[in-house]
Amino acid sequence: MAKLDGHCLCGQIAYTSDAEPIMTAVCHCADCQRQTGTTFSLVVAVPRNQLRIQGTPKVFQTMGDDRGAPAYRHFCADCGSPIMSVLADIDELAWIKAGTLNDKSWLNPTLEVWADSAQPWLQAPAERRTFPRSPTT
Ligand SMILES: [Zn+2]
Ligand SMILES: [Zn+2]
Repeated sequence: MAKLDGHCLCGQIAYTSDAEPIMTAVCHCADCQRQTGTTFSLVVAVPRNQLRIQGTPKVFQTMGDDRGAPAYRHFCADCGSPIMSVLADIDELAWIKAGTLNDKSWLNPTLEVWADSAQPWLQAPAERRTFPRSPTT
């Protein structure tokens, strides 16, 4: 049985991963805000070579302010759901948009990035590791 599975709003794109998720993170970057149409992305990292995708997501490329490497934002061309992002400089991981998971009950983010562009009414708990921008810079 897959460790993790999910699908887009219309069901054209579905995925399963046999690997345990590596981490759950909140990203407040402006691109995630715009892509999701809301205030942040909640993402779950899984090894990309353990991820099986049904259907063909469309890919939109953005360039991060800090990373100097593209982010490939996979989404469903039919219903528009963001499915996952792959960062070109760490492309062994897929960052799944957690809202597409079938089971969200276990989600517990341990990391927040791009807190500099977080909405002021969103305060991370003190125990959560928080980075003002990308953790790699
Ligand atoms: Zn869809
Ligand atoms: Zn982001």
